[in-house]
Amino acid sequence: MSILTVGTVAFDSIETPFGKADRIVGGACTYISWAASYFHKDIRLVAVVGDDFPQFELDAMRSQGINLDGLQIKEGEKSFFWAGKYHENMNGRDTLATELNVLADFDPVLPDSYKDSQYIMLGNLTPSIQMKVIEQLTVKPKLIVLDTMNFWMDIALDDLKAVIKKIDVLTINDEEARQLSGEHSLVKAARVIREMGPKYLVIKKGEHGALLFHGEEIFFAPALPLEQVFDPTGAGDTFAGGFIGYLASTDDLSFENMKRAVVYGSALASCTVEKFGIEKIKSLSIDDINDRIRTFEKLMTVNMESLVK
Ligand code: AMP
Repeated sequence: MSILTVGTVAFDSIETPFGKADRIVGGACTYISWAASYFHKDIRLVAVVGDDFPQFELDAMRSQGINLDGLQIKEGEKSFFWAGKYHENMNGRDTLATELNVLADFDPVLPDSYKDSQYIMLGNLTPSIQMKVIEQLTVKPKLIVLDTMNFWMDIALDDLKAVIKKIDVLTINDEEARQLSGEHSLVKAARVIREMGPKYLVIKKGEHGALLFHGEEIFFAPALPLEQVFDPTGAGDTFAGGFIGYLASTDDLSFENMKRAVVYGSALASCTVEKFGIEKIKSLSIDDINDRIRTFEKLMTVNMESLVK
């Protein structure tokens, strides 16, 4: 199996109640690719950076097996930059700056060797660019997952709706689901959004877990209660990377396996938030991930006594 990962590779300035980090490496595609790389070895990245992006970060991705043939490096230009500040309760955040820089006129070109990719992870990015990636695929993929955010709903809603029509799974957070559907109830929102195209919808609720909707079924996975969350940045992208990485490595798209993928995504996201930026997601071992999965299993399992005999 092969996973195509698309999205921002960027610099972030982040402020949380626990500290500040200035111009550290981030970006949706960075988190996605690192997370997916623990499950799968054929990861093909499509993104753009300026010549300000640190070479050692690219080398680290390459040594993890992430294929960077689809990464464009623009001489004399600056990488995408995002700055955000989290609220005291860490659940909400304000975007302080979004500088598109190289992203403003990014024209994604898929190397020929990427065009038959089977699992497609369209990370948070300009919706028209996500669409251009889909249009270059020469073989129908097994699964297309798309992640987006309110920023694109505000400035490019029509393009977003056009690309959502073409995908299988949409991952967004609860507020974004409400904004996109115009419905407050997440169950109603899920129905409205699935009528827009995707058969599956994942609604991420931060420290309150994630919901998976498909047909008449709903699955809920909690988030791991953690003693300390340092920086929630990238939790959603890490979730997406773990989710698609697990699905591609098992090559099983049954609803039961999708549920497992939600738990794997949640487990990896719980690691990312324990350190600033990509520090933790870059340094996981398979034992770390298995430990988290066992902890999730305990958290989620209950042997119920039925009242009806
Ligand atoms: P998350 O916390 O999962 O929403 O992802 C945060 C990451 O998304 C950061 O590393 C940012 O660089 C990146 N990001 C922030 N805003 C945007 C945007 N409008 N488009 C694409 N990526 C973004």
